[in-house]
Amino acid sequence: MLPGTGAHAVATSLPHVVAGVEAATPTQILLIGPPGAGKGTQAVRLGIALGIPVISTGDMLRKAVQSDSLLGRAVKEVMERGELVGDGLMTEIVADRLSKPDAQRGFILDGFPRTVHQAVALDRLLGARGRLRVAELSVPDDAIVQRLSARRVCGSCGANALPNASAMGTGTRCPCGGTLQTRADDREEVVRERLRVYKRATRPLVEFYSGRGCLCVVDGTLAPDLVTRRVALAVDTVSV
Ligand code: AMP
Repeated sequence: MLPGTGAHAVATSLPHVVAGVEAATPTQILLIGPPGAGKGTQAVRLGIALGIPVISTGDMLRKAVQSDSLLGRAVKEVMERGELVGDGLMTEIVADRLSKPDAQRGFILDGFPRTVHQAVALDRLLGARGRLRVAELSVPDDAIVQRLSARRVCGSCGANALPNASAMGTGTRCPCGGTLQTRADDREEVVRERLRVYKRATRPLVEFYSGRGCLCVVDGTLAPDLVTRRVALAVDTVSV
């Protein structure tokens, strides 16, 4: 189990949400929020609690960069500048991932869609697979810059170690044995650029989804356990 997720506690405290997973309808959750809002942490916790995979496009791209694949080489510099990879490429990556057997029961999307163009593409990909439940994690800019300058990620398993948002602590080692490192795009000037990109390209998704009545907003500054619980209950409520 990933460190600091408290997943069992979350699962047992969310009986009707977990029960929904056993029904025929897939649980399709999308987390939106600025970089550092806690989407990655919450996606992992919810994914374990609900028994569905997390699809994190940032993690997929970072793995590609780490393995120096063709994809990794194509996206490395764009990522280091805090800019967005092209919509067409991202849509292809997600289309492929959504077609895998484990994603048929549902998924937690973290980091895609990030533009209205990608959201329209996602609609097309989901087709008749059932509704999408969207949760926005809201965190003010200053708190984000502060969080991200302190964030460390495990170079081996990719888990986050946010001092106030994870039980992993702030040591130099992840419980999996990997080394904790600063992400290349967590330097303050890159974080500011990522926030600008978020407001320009991604925030319009809040309106896109709230217009459909499938969006809920959760205060991302609360304790991680509370955020998990609120997201789980909120996405359950908005989708009935
Ligand atoms: P994240 O871990 O979600 O913050 O993503 C890290 C970086 O990967 C972003 O700053 C972008 O450069 C790139 N990225 C991840 N997901 C997407 C996406 N859906 N569209 C474009 N770029 C993305």
